[in-house]
Amino acid sequence: MHITVIGGGLVGVTTAWYLLDGGHTVTLVDRAPELAAEASHANGAMLHASHTEPWNTPQALGQLLRWIGRENSPLLLRPTALPSLVGWGLGFLRYSRPHHHARNTAVNARLAVYSLELMRELEDRLPLEYTQRHAGILKIFRSEAEMQTAHAGSALMAESGVRHEALTPAAISHREPALADIEGDLAGGFFYPDDASGDARLFCQRLGEAAVDRGLTLRLGESVQHLRVEGGRLQAIDTDRGTIEADAFVLATGAEAPHLARQAGVRLPIRPVKGYSATLPVGGLEAAPVLPIIDDGRKIVITRLGDQLRIAGTAEFTGYDKTIRPQRVRTVLEQGLANFPALAEQVDAGSAEQWACLRPMTVDGPPILGQSGVGGLYLNTGAGHLGWTFAAGAGRVVADMIDGRTPAIDLAGLTLDRYR
Ligand SMILES: Cc1cc2nc3c(=O)[nH]c(=O)nc-3n(C[C@H](O)[C@H](O)[C@H](O)COP(=O)(O)OP(=O)(O)OC[C@H]3O[C@@H](n4cnc5c(N)ncnc54)[C@H](O)[C@@H]3O)c2cc1C
Repeated sequence: MHITVIGGGLVGVTTAWYLLDGGHTVTLVDRAPELAAEASHANGAMLHASHTEPWNTPQALGQLLRWIGRENSPLLLRPTALPSLVGWGLGFLRYSRPHHHARNTAVNARLAVYSLELMRELEDRLPLEYTQRHAGILKIFRSEAEMQTAHAGSALMAESGVRHEALTPAAISHREPALADIEGDLAGGFFYPDDASGDARLFCQRLGEAAVDRGLTLRLGESVQHLRVEGGRLQAIDTDRGTIEADAFVLATGAEAPHLARQAGVRLPIRPVKGYSATLPVGGLEAAPVLPIIDDGRKIVITRLGDQLRIAGTAEFTGYDKTIRPQRVRTVLEQGLANFPALAEQVDAGSAEQWACLRPMTVDGPPILGQSGVGGLYLNTGAGHLGWTFAAGAGRVVADMIDGRTPAIDLAGLTLDRYR
């Protein structure tokens, strides 16, 4: 078959890769001049099956109300985004009920564990260098209450195979000496030995190059504008450079997916949630952490990528606005560096590379994989804060579905028909 993947972020590239495994002729089209130009560009770099709880936790409403209007809060709701959030927002709150949240955590964990297995398999197959570290991830907490909530979440994820180890503040400093200065502020933490980290953009671009070597046709700088559905089937797509016909299409356009899907009559309950990152040079600085760290209370992740330190976080409901707001970057940087007072004095925060982009967030948390209800149109989108973690697994599952193979994991809770 000839299959066209729309979108060259993590999700589109992994899907194309696994479709090539099936012997298909594959085209990938992206409007940007390079792969990984959007949400997959400078994300938190964490491959974290341990972080698969959807963001609409049972505590979400209370947090939203507490943080409303505070420019330095981890979660921000801008009034301009409100009209686009009316129905979706109510759904987001409905899915925050404990039973929904627990179920969707388990659904995400199942996909994440599978995905991390596939990442290792890919690394065995290919000489992929993306500053990866398979050394686990550390999650830290400042209060007993946060620690208890996380304990329940970790126990749930453990049922899907996510191993964890509870740590005292002293054990945290032992594992990551860069945190020793704040040991007294911590209530404890968890260590997740099977998690990993790495530069998503490098991975995406290297896998894309390997895919081109296997025959992938890459059409960069080409924007898909129109889906041609005839007789209940997607026949072709019109781009700003021409028309592409194919036997099947995969929509992997991240936060933009609802726009193109709507043209085919498919409604996707996905909204953009903006996040920021700042990347600092820390080569040679002993005060810099080596282990990836999730600072749960501040909703910040801190990841070492070779000689650089990436600090990422914040969730901003602000529609499709990708503007980098200096105040928000400052917040991310300050909150991240507050964990390493010695490092904070040594680095030049002004030299940080600043970035912002939109996570494609579904109303309930898990991504949407597979059939769209329109013949020839498949979906791979909605990965939210977990698109790097899910990429290999989601790509493989969608390729399996197109090929008529039974995916290796149960798809309950991962397909569009869960909303019907
Ligand atoms: C601040 C931040 C931190 C994050 N940290 C982590 C993390 O630590 N771990 C983790 O697992 N996940 C993380 N994520 C989430 C993860 O980065 C995303 O879920 C993931 O990148 C989504 O990948 P994607 O391929 O679906 O979308 P994208 O990477 O956005 O790719 C979509 C592609 O579609 C293209 N496109 C859109 N419309 C069109 C069109 N009309 N025609 C042609 N091309 C089009 C775009 O150019 C783009 O390249 C983070 C996200 C953010 C914002």
